[in-house]
Amino acid sequence: MKIIKYLIFIIAILVIGVLILIRIPSIQDRIATRVIKNTLTNPLSLPDDALTALVCGSRSPIPSPNRAETCILIKAGENLYIVDVGDGSISNLRNWRVDINKVKAVLLTHLHSDHISDLADLHLNSWIMNPTRSKKLDVFGPQGVDQVVNGFDAAYKLDYQFRNEHHGDDVAPLDSAGYEPNIIDLASPIIIDDNGLKVTAFSVIHDPVEPALGYRFDYKGRSIVISGDTIYHDNVIKNSKDADVLFHEAQANHMIKIMENENVKLGNLLLAKVMSDIVTYHTTPVEAAEIANKANVRHLVFYHLTPAPRNNIMENMFVRGVNEVREEWTLSDDGTMVILPLNSDKIEIKKIN
Ligand SMILES: [Zn+2]
Ligand SMILES: [Zn+2]
Repeated sequence: MKIIKYLIFIIAILVIGVLILIRIPSIQDRIATRVIKNTLTNPLSLPDDALTALVCGSRSPIPSPNRAETCILIKAGENLYIVDVGDGSISNLRNWRVDINKVKAVLLTHLHSDHISDLADLHLNSWIMNPTRSKKLDVFGPQGVDQVVNGFDAAYKLDYQFRNEHHGDDVAPLDSAGYEPNIIDLASPIIIDDNGLKVTAFSVIHDPVEPALGYRFDYKGRSIVISGDTIYHDNVIKNSKDADVLFHEAQANHMIKIMENENVKLGNLLLAKVMSDIVTYHTTPVEAAEIANKANVRHLVFYHLTPAPRNNIMENMFVRGVNEVREEWTLSDDGTMVILPLNSDKIEIKKIN
């Protein structure tokens, strides 16, 4: 008993001591310097000898804490590409210390806001202080992508000028500010053929959004397919044939129905209508599992989650029925990483803390 009292006394003294110490400016400076140094170093290391996908945003427009809107970073060898840049996704990549400067192009699946809203953030962070970029940021996408990037350019033209005037040409060169739109014509579906990486675009169905696209990445014998937003569609099966990993969007309609009912009860009839409208607009987790099976895909990752689960119970509920269809699947979070090492058939699934 005496020992316990003594220990409590010692701990109390230590806590009081720490509380006093962290109020001393020189101690604060030392701690802050260490924290700042840590944020400036320790970049996230993604392998060069693999095809890698990192989920930088796992949710759809329905909010969910700790999740950004849709975004998948792809690394093939040393080359980085980003598929969709929804709200919060670039902040994720910056917090994880991904070298956004090296992003070679953005690929948009379609032009809904939850897939494009962080374009300006990506632009800023890959434009300033980037001597390796000699041209505008390449943005691939369906018809209309020129209208979108020209609109971003118009909205941010003053931002480009202000930063250039403030920091000069070395930091913020005006001749590489802005975007280069690349409108995808599905008559020539291979949109990138670069150092062993082949990116193939294919159409999906997300009416009335047209065209809407998915992308297949093939790199030195490894392959990743990203569905984009789509209903169950044979074209995803066709283009995912024998792929290592399929990232498929997923909407749990049994959860959407609850949201619809609760909104009706609360008198939010317009929100209830939206919930009812989207039921036929996406793919359920069970359907995505069936697609993966039909395509002989080795691993399925659910992303663009609608509604994105907020806790473990909702996660279990979201994938209800999936285990009866297939075993190899992952429900993604922000930070889910899939690594496909070259000269191997391994599929490594990790999570950034
Ligand atoms: Zn979407
Ligand atoms: Zn959409």
